[in-house]
Amino acid sequence: MSRRSGKLRRVLSRFFKERQIYHRSDGVVHFISMSSKTQIALSVVIGAALLWVAYSSVNVVFKEQIIVAKERDSRIMETTYSKRLHDAQRAYDDVSSLNQIIQQNFDETMVDISTRHQMLRNMVERKSAIDQGLDTLAAGLAEAGGPNGQKPSNGNRVMVDIAPGEPTPRQSRFSTIRKAAEPAQDQPDDEEGNAAPNAIEIMEKAAADLYVEQMLLLAAVEEKANKERDELKMVLASTGAPVDALVTPAKISNLVLAQGGPFIDAANMSGEYSTFYQHANRAATAVDELEALQAAIKYVPLSSPLIVSRRFTSGYGVRRDPINGRHSSHHGIDFAAPWASPVTATAAGVVKLARTRAGFGRTVEIDHGNGFVTRYAHMSRISVKAGQKVNLHDKVGELGSSGRSTGPHVHYEILFRGKPLNPRRFIEAGRYVFES
Ligand SMILES: [Zn+2]
Repeated sequence: MSRRSGKLRRVLSRFFKERQIYHRSDGVVHFISMSSKTQIALSVVIGAALLWVAYSSVNVVFKEQIIVAKERDSRIMETTYSKRLHDAQRAYDDVSSLNQIIQQNFDETMVDISTRHQMLRNMVERKSAIDQGLDTLAAGLAEAGGPNGQKPSNGNRVMVDIAPGEPTPRQSRFSTIRKAAEPAQDQPDDEEGNAAPNAIEIMEKAAADLYVEQMLLLAAVEEKANKERDELKMVLASTGAPVDALVTPAKISNLVLAQGGPFIDAANMSGEYSTFYQHANRAATAVDELEALQAAIKYVPLSSPLIVSRRFTSGYGVRRDPINGRHSSHHGIDFAAPWASPVTATAAGVVKLARTRAGFGRTVEIDHGNGFVTRYAHMSRISVKAGQKVNLHDKVGELGSSGRSTGPHVHYEILFRGKPLNPRRFIEAGRYVFES
């Protein structure tokens, strides 16, 4: 038994000492003896009864207040619940509208990419059509060779490295542009390697990669078209003919419109799209100009009137007249070759004149458009009629010595807007088309 319970026992036994209650009735004294235990039990019962009475009274008195308080509590709980419900609904709405935004974003990105892709494809297709035309022309000119008939040593090496299947120079240039275009690509972009990218990031990365590829392709098209255009211009300029008169300024910047897509005004666009369309317009300008030049050069007489072995006998300018010995100007050049050798058109055009002319003998004149006319004289025979269309290297007659001539040769002239130009410079320029 512990000391504590012993102490409690002592306190209890002091309060509830054994008591006797005496009472007298009819002269007899009775007493009731009450032990400590009985007293304690009685006290407990009485205490419990008092507590019950107190509780019941409080309940009755404060009933209204209690009910009000309970109602208030339940209202608060209800409000809290509906607020939570509302929050959940809003969170759901947020998520679904975010989904919608992502979907919209995705759709827009796809439209952008495919628009750009279509534009690029059209440009590349146009460019390769031009390249093919130039290839054909260069091959045709190569057949005729230089002024004295010598063929180029390395064959049909067009200045324009346009032909597909020339990967070496193209790739190196391409990779240079690539390096310039993506300076940040080599840096490691995930530091820790964790945090897997989500769908949006993957999509954005793919779109960005595609954008870089498209920009590179665009830059490559622009660069090549510009280079070829400049080279063709140089070739044409070397003939002494005014180049700007040959080529109407390109229709330019109509490309985006002309390609069938919606017209996009780059000035009103922001960021990368604006940049893309500015580049696209520049590339389109270059391709337009190249196309115009390619169309023009087809009708510039860059070949020689004799594709057989020939001898250059008399140059352009002031010379001693072979018949009367006096100084006079010679507006063309003369080639000697065997009698009846085929004399051929030096570019495509329409026969303007095919008859005997005083001094020139049997003569053919071809109108090539753009102000160019070529003249072939002293022939023994004429093979075409006025109004007939001819292509490069079509036979127009046979070499002879008709008119004011001392021996079998062809007299060849180039007239630009009625004024003679030196044909030798044109033939040299034609060689550059496939040699440089
Ligand atoms: Zn002559």
